[in-house]
Parts: sequence; C-alpha cells; structure tokens
Amino acid sequence: MTEREASEPLDALLEAAVDAIVIADKQGRILRFNSAAERMFGYVASEVLGQNIQVLMPEPDRGLHDGYLRSYLSGGPARIIGRGREVTARHADGARFPIHLSVGEIAGQGMASFVGIIRDLTQEKAAQDTVRDLEQQLTHADRLVVLGELTAGIAHEINQPLTAIAAFADAGVNLLRGDAVEAGASVEEICQRIAEQARRAADVIARLRDLTRRGEVTKSPQDINALLSNILRLMEHELALGGVRVDVDIDDQLAEVVVDDIQIQQVLVNLIKNSIDALVDNGVAEPVIRVSTARRDDMLCLTVSDNGPGVPEALRDRLFDSFFTTKPRGVGLGLAICRNIAVAHGGQLRYAPAPGGGAEFQLSLPLEMIG
Ligand code: ADP
Repeated sequence: MTEREASEPLDALLEAAVDAIVIADKQGRILRFNSAAERMFGYVASEVLGQNIQVLMPEPDRGLHDGYLRSYLSGGPARIIGRGREVTARHADGARFPIHLSVGEIAGQGMASFVGIIRDLTQEKAAQDTVRDLEQQLTHADRLVVLGELTAGIAHEINQPLTAIAAFADAGVNLLRGDAVEAGASVEEICQRIAEQARRAADVIARLRDLTRRGEVTKSPQDINALLSNILRLMEHELALGGVRVDVDIDDQLAEVVVDDIQIQQVLVNLIKNSIDALVDNGVAEPVIRVSTARRDDMLCLTVSDNGPGVPEALRDRLFDSFFTTKPRGVGLGLAICRNIAVAHGGQLRYAPAPGGGAEFQLSLPLEMIG
C-alpha cells in the first residue's frame, strides 16, 4: 500500500468525525487539524499547522505543556495520555471552554506521535449548571414549605388547647360568680381540665421540637378509640358553639394501631375542625359530623364526614396542595400536613363525596405496623 492510499481513509475518517481531532508530533507541533477542530477552536487548519499545540490551551497549561511533554517523553507519568479527562481549552478569540480530551500515542510512525480527540462540553456543562440551579431552588422552596407547615402546625396545635383553657377559665369565673354553668361542673373539674389542656400544649411543643430535631415520627401502640375520644373531648366546646352533633361509629375490635399519637391526633383535629368550619360557615341547619372506623383488608380506615356542602369537583384535585384554601383567613396547610402524616405512617388520606352529600375524608393506616 502506498502512503497516499493509506492517508485517504485517514483523511476521510478525520473529516467525518464529529469530535475535533488534532495530531501533534513529539515536540507538540500540530500536524493535523480536522474540520470539527476548526469549528470548535475558530482557526482554519492552515493557521495552526506547525504551531505548538499550546495555542489551543489557556494559561496555566499553556506555559506548562512543553514541560509535561518532555517529562512524559523521558519516562515521567502520563497526565492525560491513555486516560481522557475534562480540561479547559482556548478558542481563537481567547474564550475558555470546557472539553473532554483523550490522547493516544501513535508509536513507530516516524513524525506523528500524539492524537487528541476532543469533545466540546460547553452545552453539557450549561445543562448541568441549570439542573444544579433548579435543584438548589427546589431545595430552598422545599425548606420554605416545611418551615411554613411546621409554623402553621404549631400555631394550630397550640391554639386548640389555648382556646379550651380560655373557655374553661370563663366557665370557672361564671361558676364563682354564681352564674349558670354546665350542670355538674365544679371548680375542681374545671381546674383539672385546664391543667390537662396546658399539659397537652406543652407536650405538643416538646414533640414538635423533637420532630424538627430528629426529622422522624415516634410510633408506639395506641388505642385509636382513646385518641378519638380525647380529641372529641378537646373539641367539645367548639362543637357545642357551632351546635354540631357528633355521631361516632367505631369498631371496638380495631382498637390498636402503631402510630405517632400526637400526629394522628393532629390529623383528627384538622379534619374535625374543617368539618365544623364547613358546617358553620355555610349555616347548615342540622350540622352533623360522623366519625367511624372500619377494617379494609389490612388497613384501618378512619372516616370523618359531614353534611356540609362538600368540596366542588373542580377543586378536589387541589385539596391537598400546600396553601390551597377557600377560607378568607385560611392558611391551606391543614390537609397537606395531614396527608404527609398519613403517608409517613404508611397510610393515605383521601377525599370522597359523602353518601348523603357533604365531605368525607378517609384516613387509612396499616393495621400491622412495626414502629
Ligand atoms: P384551611 O383550613 O386553612 O383552608 P386545609 O388544607 O385544612 O386548609 O383545607 C383546604 C380547603 O379544603 C379548605 O379551605 C376548604 O375549601 C376545603 N375543605 C377542607 N375540609 C372541608 C370540608 N369538610 N368540607 C368542605 N370543604 C373542605
């Protein structure tokens, strides 16, 4: 084969390559510079042929390259040859740009010594930067949402016992003045209830502090019926104020679940509070909230439903979104937090229209759970 015949396929290969290909001799002088290299570096081949390959590098590599080459040729370690790595290149206009460079050695070919295959990484890097920026923005947004949810959760949870304490204290004042109060109420009983609510508020704060520190839920075996009656007692004033009747239909066989009691109570408070709001704000004539438990496969299904207006179909998709609210002074985090809690327990919280009209929220929790 003549030299001419041999160079033809090589020429064809060089010109067809999408990557820039540069061949240099042992002294680093450029021998070949394909079309892709011309486009990438902004030189025509004739401008760079015979020049030191340093012309394609920015400082500090530009000044150091002759030294690298000499060191390699006298048996020193390879920095790029045979490995390929990301480095910075220099365009004819002086701009720096990221490239992936792999260099091979051409042995026993007289003059030719090194071939460099170069891929421009500018777009890839820009895409990576965009992804990183977006990730950072998302993390930041996530943190804001979590912070907001926690603040709203704390406010809501503390507000419940505070409201109850205020109402019990009012009742105590009425009792001492000799005004009519709830039959059977004694100062002792009122003080006990106030103490109970104050401890509940303190407990909520302690648990929320724990939660932010550990970022996890604390599950233990709990009697779901006991949690429920606790909450109904806690909310009895609010229920009475709205004239709301509560029907409870619980399955006694399903008493025990392994849950974070404070969190599950938070869900119950939110659901019942939302039902009270829906019933009172819409002036429903005979307002009723129905709470029931039932077993569905290996899940406990706790349902809170009301005979209010329900949620219009068009809004149902957004019900559990953070900050979705239709209330003038609503925050729109209650249901989002409740669903997070349900999911953190391996369960779910869903909406369904109540059979006789109104809203129905179904909280499902796994019956066999290991804390
Ligand atoms: P907020 O109570 O601050 O509005 P939530 O996340 O608890 O936040 O509730 C979001 C919205 O879901 C409410 O504004 C209301 O429109 C709707 N909603 C929740 N529960 C009920 C219900 N029982 N009946 C009708 N609409 C409800």
